[in-house]
Amino acid sequence: MALLQISEPGMSPEPHQRRLAVGIDLGTTNSLVAAVRSGVADVLPDELGRPLLPSVVRYRDDGPVEVGHVAWECASEDPRNTIVSVKRYMGRGLADATRHPSPYTFVDAPGMVRIRTDFGERSPVEVSAEILRVLRARAEASLGGELVGAVITVPAYFDDAQRQATKDAARLAGLEVLRLLNEPTAAAIAYGLDHASEGVYAVYDLGGGTFDISVLRLTKGVFEVIATGGDTALGGDDFDRRLGDFFVAEGGLGELAPDDLRRVLKAARLAKESLSEHPEARIEARIVGRGLVSVPVTAVQFHAMTRDLLDRTLDTVRRTLRDANLAAAQIEGVVLVGGATRMPQLREAVGAVFGRPALIDLDPDKVVALGAAVQANLLAGNRGEDGDDWLLLDVIPLSLGLETMGGLVEKIIPRNATIPVARAQEFTTYKDGQTAMALHVVQGERELVADCRSLARFELRGIPPMAAGAGRIRVTFQVDADGLLSVTAREQSQGIEASIAVKPSYGLSDDEIARMLQESFGTAEIDMKARALREQQVDADRLLQATQVALEADGDLLDAAEREAIAAAMRELRAVSQADDARAIEARIADLARGTEAFAARRMDRAVRQALSGRRLDEIG
Ligand code: AMP
Repeated sequence: MALLQISEPGMSPEPHQRRLAVGIDLGTTNSLVAAVRSGVADVLPDELGRPLLPSVVRYRDDGPVEVGHVAWECASEDPRNTIVSVKRYMGRGLADATRHPSPYTFVDAPGMVRIRTDFGERSPVEVSAEILRVLRARAEASLGGELVGAVITVPAYFDDAQRQATKDAARLAGLEVLRLLNEPTAAAIAYGLDHASEGVYAVYDLGGGTFDISVLRLTKGVFEVIATGGDTALGGDDFDRRLGDFFVAEGGLGELAPDDLRRVLKAARLAKESLSEHPEARIEARIVGRGLVSVPVTAVQFHAMTRDLLDRTLDTVRRTLRDANLAAAQIEGVVLVGGATRMPQLREAVGAVFGRPALIDLDPDKVVALGAAVQANLLAGNRGEDGDDWLLLDVIPLSLGLETMGGLVEKIIPRNATIPVARAQEFTTYKDGQTAMALHVVQGERELVADCRSLARFELRGIPPMAAGAGRIRVTFQVDADGLLSVTAREQSQGIEASIAVKPSYGLSDDEIARMLQESFGTAEIDMKARALREQQVDADRLLQATQVALEADGDLLDAAEREAIAAAMRELRAVSQADDARAIEARIADLARGTEAFAARRMDRAVRQALSGRRLDEIG
């Protein structure tokens, strides 16, 4: 991220008066709040000295909502009303929410699922807002004043819907969002500023529910994100589920009731964490009708049953390095983020991929919140004394583009472009007298619209009628610092404009982004062929249309035989134009173009004659 030295208007603080701002890591499993005090970023603990707030919310009828440790204690007893891992459901539709087993009853709702509790339906935004409210209160109590705002971190792969949902949750909690910041980027800030390191770094972040990998270049004072990759549906929870399945199989248990399932997953998580320290552990859970079931598991068994999960993350690492045109050996350090990176087999495997041990100086649970706090402090206008007032810019994870003729995608902003970013491109009208243009905004790496994700559609109306190809429509894509997109189309001669802000299109398929990326790598050649075919088909249509118009206007310039020859060439082109042979279409286009050369010349003569008729020679030239 090119570090911009942005001085925000109206944000310079009074001398000695610091504006209170915090960094919040709103995690799947745990959340944290941190602030810079006396020039040092630190996590703010609760009144019992605990830094982590479990991201768990319990609804009750006989008292206020419970959040954090108390709620987590009740997760097994009251699973329907105790919401865990709500981050997985932010900005998601029903299909995604129900992909993983969970004890919840989901209700389909426009935009985003809702979770049915015994005390009413709750949206994931409301649930997240409860967590943020607690963190806000904690911060205001320890800092002794009202906050001007917060920097909230999100996984790099969060799409528009998920980012917007996060902002909505903050607003609901009464927090001003200074910026949403990608989690690995926040970690890099914490490391970069703490250690003043230089070089290319990778940030490997495996939390409870998501995996992110980012490649960042750090030089003194300048941070740049080179590439990002990840998987929104892979995390420590998946390792728990494997241990849970193992427990069910070894214990000879059948399908589990929701309460039992919750207890088993909790026991599995404890065993997993214990296996980070010890060669063996026991998974122990009370099962209704069976009493206490205790299953021993060794670290070796655990590693074997989860090796494929680890390998999935490593595949993504390699792919992201390829994106960045870097060999693993060029990475000078690998930063580990997220509680799940405490697993020793993971540290070893990541170290092996990069050929060097991973960096673990900072607590992997806190590093994101610390970086967010540094950023929040700067955004609030509290300048560093030694001038490290850098603001980081992120990259967009998937290309953004427009649908063009033939269902093709014209990429306007390529993936990995640094944000905020604005790019414009000119388009033209396709038909004579065209007065409206439909714009379809898509996201993805593929060449065909059908293979990309549709983000929004809008229309530009009131284009002055002109010949095909004469209209000039400038389309501008703008992605703001939070990764939200707005698209504007402007007709250049009269300045007529239409625009759309891409608001949450909630209800995306869960790991759609990761899948779309993966697909694009394997299909580049097929896509190029498909693109070539579509382009020929569009050219064919255009030529057929133009020839038809010409025949209607000036058909009298041809004799019957000539007319029939052109009609035959048109028939032949039409016959092949919808088949999937680009070369055949190209050949027939060439035939028709050749067949109409003489006709075109005669039309030109006629047009010139008409233009000159009635004018004296000395008026011309
Ligand atoms: P986060 O989302 O970053 O809070 O990460 C939470 C995940 O880290 C959960 O899946 C935890 O079980 C996991 N985790 C925390 N501590 C350990 C540990 N010592 N060993 C293995 N996994 C851990």
